[in-house]
Amino acid sequence: MPATIYNFSAGPAVLPKEVLQQAAAEMLDWHGSGMSVMEMSHRGAEYTSIITAAQKDLRELLAVPDNYKILFMQGGAIAENAIVPMNLAGLKPQPATADYINTGSWSVKSLKEAGKYLNVNVAASSEADKFATIPPRDSWKLTRDAAYVHVCTNETIDGIEYQFVPDVSADTNGAPLVADMSSHILSRVIDVSQYGVIYGGAQKNIGPAGLTIVIVREDLLGHALPCCPSAFNWKTVADNDSMFNTPPTYAIYIAGLVFQWLKRQGGVAAMEERNIAKAALLYDYLDSSDFYINRINKGNRSRMNVPFFLRDESLNAAFLAQAKENGLLQLKGHKSVGGMRASIYNAMTIEGVQALVAFMAKFAAANK
Ligand SMILES: *Cc1c(COP(=O)(O)O)cnc(C)c1O
Repeated sequence: MPATIYNFSAGPAVLPKEVLQQAAAEMLDWHGSGMSVMEMSHRGAEYTSIITAAQKDLRELLAVPDNYKILFMQGGAIAENAIVPMNLAGLKPQPATADYINTGSWSVKSLKEAGKYLNVNVAASSEADKFATIPPRDSWKLTRDAAYVHVCTNETIDGIEYQFVPDVSADTNGAPLVADMSSHILSRVIDVSQYGVIYGGAQKNIGPAGLTIVIVREDLLGHALPCCPSAFNWKTVADNDSMFNTPPTYAIYIAGLVFQWLKRQGGVAAMEERNIAKAALLYDYLDSSDFYINRINKGNRSRMNVPFFLRDESLNAAFLAQAKENGLLQLKGHKSVGGMRASIYNAMTIEGVQALVAFMAKFAAANK
């Protein structure tokens, strides 16, 4: 392996080197406690200080308003696909209906799972154009009394991202907007107050797998269906400060280190600027090249996940092998899409994207 490695994995994904170094230094003895974080009681004073700081820092980074709870859960976004309807269906008489916007692979998973708990109305879909766009807001056929409206604001596999926040309240009698932000949370400034619920697995842009972040407006707590497991009932989790069951302690600790790192980088606005620059570098190169192609509508492209194809797909294996020799790892596209995908989350440096573009140009020149 070359000395410098750049890891483009879609998730679990690259973490800031500083964070891993700090975790390594603290591995055997956290702050003179004589214990590894993994060995601490989640209710002890040491761990309480870790989880409290993590929550406070996340609240600060996203400017989460006081009337929202931050929950640290488990099960990933896929579990939340069931947890969301189980917690929100009770906002309406049964059987309730929820609106889903279908913009890609993760939306499809979400709406299929939700269908076990309520009626799902697919209010808009870009499936017909192979998920290369996001259906414009004025084309959405929302339900007057929907329990909620669900969107996936960054489709990790397809490489599309909302560049707008849909206003759904007027068409639905004030239904809350629920967003799966797994793969771009903390990559851009958001106004949390425009959402009822924001959720995501940590392993894309935050920390290790095993931690799920849920940010939920307080009036949406306490409406769970009777079938909802206690450990998945947001109100129970909130009332117990994410300690109803043992939380994923080590994952929360690493996420907390990432939050501190983000604050040192200048916060989310500073990260957003860098992410815009990184994405522009890669997309501009793709658009200038006749060797590679990205098929996503320009206005809907993801800043985090950039799928691309070699026009001559017989060169795929050589591309991946030579990329690896050059220290550029995990560029293979998702099996459902094929081709390549570069995930360029917060922890990916501009140098990493420059190295990727330089390699791509060299490979293209050598294989004309
Ligand atoms: C990765 C991902 C998921 C799945 O997360 P799990 O942690 O595996 O449950 C869901 N939604 C989006 C947008 C993702 O990127």
